[in-house]
Amino acid sequence: MIQLIKGFKDVLPGEIEVWQTIERAAKETFENFGFQELRLPIVEKSELFSRSIGDTTDIVEKEMYTFEDGKRGHVTLRPEATASVVRSYIQHKMYAKDPIRKFYTIGPMFRRERPQKGRYRQFYQIDAEVFGIDSPYLDAQLIFMLATLLEKLKARDVKAHINSLGCPCCRPNFQKALKELLDAKKDSLCENCLRRSEKNPLRVLDCKVPSCREAVAGAPSILDHLCDDCRDHFETVKSVLTENGVEFEVDTRLVRGLDYYTRTAFEVLTTSLGAQNAVAGGGRYDGLVKALGGPEMPAIGFAIGFDRLAEIVAMQQTIEADGPTLYIAPLGEKATEKAASWAMQLAARGVFCETDFAGRSLKSHMKRADKLKAAHVLMLGDDELDRGVAALRNMATKEQWDLPLDGLVETLVERFN
Ligand code: ATP
Ligand code: MG
Repeated sequence: MIQLIKGFKDVLPGEIEVWQTIERAAKETFENFGFQELRLPIVEKSELFSRSIGDTTDIVEKEMYTFEDGKRGHVTLRPEATASVVRSYIQHKMYAKDPIRKFYTIGPMFRRERPQKGRYRQFYQIDAEVFGIDSPYLDAQLIFMLATLLEKLKARDVKAHINSLGCPCCRPNFQKALKELLDAKKDSLCENCLRRSEKNPLRVLDCKVPSCREAVAGAPSILDHLCDDCRDHFETVKSVLTENGVEFEVDTRLVRGLDYYTRTAFEVLTTSLGAQNAVAGGGRYDGLVKALGGPEMPAIGFAIGFDRLAEIVAMQQTIEADGPTLYIAPLGEKATEKAASWAMQLAARGVFCETDFAGRSLKSHMKRADKLKAAHVLMLGDDELDRGVAALRNMATKEQWDLPLDGLVETLVERFN
């Protein structure tokens, strides 16, 4: 038997209801905040990711599924969505009509990571991005929108952690201070961090190796190095969040695993998933549109880990698929012929309807209707056919009515729609 590859998974009925609930809630919430959906390719030129996410990040150094595609050169299965959204925004000159655009996109991402609980090689993200607004009100609004969605889904034990990563004007000061500390702690850094502390010291703050975490425990706070503009920006984000009832914690170690962030960076962490505790992450990336060949354009976004959110939601509530509104139970050949055509007509007209063609007994039909969790059963045997009626039973109340065969489909459509 051929089985799926480790790190990949099937989402099956029983689990998919939670996924569908989340997806519907996300679409509804985001659209109320003015977001439009994008559908983007899963494969992009590798360069798009190395240039945006950054050459010294885990993702680009070791996690990308990259292969050669003839004269197209190297292509990559997208590890995240922001780079593609930015590429699309620039390529279609979406800024020309209106620089302010808000998008969301939902789909699979691919990272060659060590498979474990909450960490897959194909996972899903719900991604939201906004272009053209540099105001801190937007940063707060985006975090508020994320919190609203989580609240709608009754996801408990989640909290936003926020930080500011400064801008090209003030971050170098911090990098210098951090580099000094790292140089003094060289002995405790992992190989990766040793290498990165030269080119990209911020990365060390994101390392999960315990000795590295200890080494940076006494690191200077980036917040002490912000320029006035970045500090004002961060203060406003915090005060708007507070005024609007979003709980958050300032975490000066939060740098995120991608290089393109500026100013506000945030993560939503949960206490209910064990080690893989990040449910969503995002931040401002004011330099990325320009860096990828577009105009100077502020932007901010976040990605929710769909798989992890589905796990949290499934812990709090059971969401089951609805059974059919109607199950038609025909007895005998003639009744089966009628049932087949009614079932088709009813389903086509919006009534969730099931029947069975196997020539079952009434008892066996009732068992099947129960198994499918049908709300009503329509019974049709020789006796009913002679009398020109069919018997409709409400499975919950056990009430029963005879309905005339004449115009039956119409009667049922009216009753159930
Ligand atoms: P982590 O710290 O868990 O590695 P990350 O910072 O790499 O997360 P992002 O790139 O910010 O993750 O992606 C946003 C969200 O996508 C994460 O918060 C997480 O919920 C989810 N995610 C990331 N990688 C995976 C994965 N391999 N499997 C499942 N979900 C993932
Ligand atoms: Mg990661």
